[in-house]
Amino acid sequence: MTAGCLALNSSFEPLTLVPLRRALRLVIDGKAEIVEADGERLVRSARQNFPHPVVIRLTRFIHVPRRFRRQVTNTFLFARDHYTCQYCGRNTMQLRHRESLTRDHVVPLSRGGTNVWTNVVTACSGCNTRKAHHLPDEIGMQLLHAPVEPHFVHLSWAVRRLTPIQAKYIRLFYGAGVLHRIEALEHRGATHAMPTAGKRA
Ligand SMILES: [Zn+2]
Repeated sequence: MTAGCLALNSSFEPLTLVPLRRALRLVIDGKAEIVEADGERLVRSARQNFPHPVVIRLTRFIHVPRRFRRQVTNTFLFARDHYTCQYCGRNTMQLRHRESLTRDHVVPLSRGGTNVWTNVVTACSGCNTRKAHHLPDEIGMQLLHAPVEPHFVHLSWAVRRLTPIQAKYIRLFYGAGVLHRIEALEHRGATHAMPTAGKRA
């Protein structure tokens, strides 16, 4: 499996995983330097060969607005909620045919709710349809967990695979505790991706 290349800010803060081509472009343009490369592999371009970058570091510091980092996307939302409907408690593997995970607004948009982390939860399509434009307690639905804003780092990495070298940079910047929590989430994601027999009656 080809993981992306981990891009660090000039401060060594891990920013994101970028596709290999984009990483090389940044290096060729002098906007980034290769911090770690896969010594076994070379990337060939028309003019020259490059070491295969695994970690790059931007040469100039870029300011990443907090708001941008914490934008709610379904990928991260589902990861935060461990791929589990926050009303009926079923996870991806337990959904029926044609059911899917969706984003539910606890206070519906039509009633002034917004797209912030504290107002969105993962819901199966069935529960979401049933809830419609209601507040949960208006129709006797209850949230398993109150939605909170996650540490963006946990989520960014929960939905991706880190190579051991990339993990080293996460640990360097955030400490071993954060890395462990990320790995725990990663592991949980993997569990859900595997077929489980006879879970759904
Ligand atoms: Zn549900």
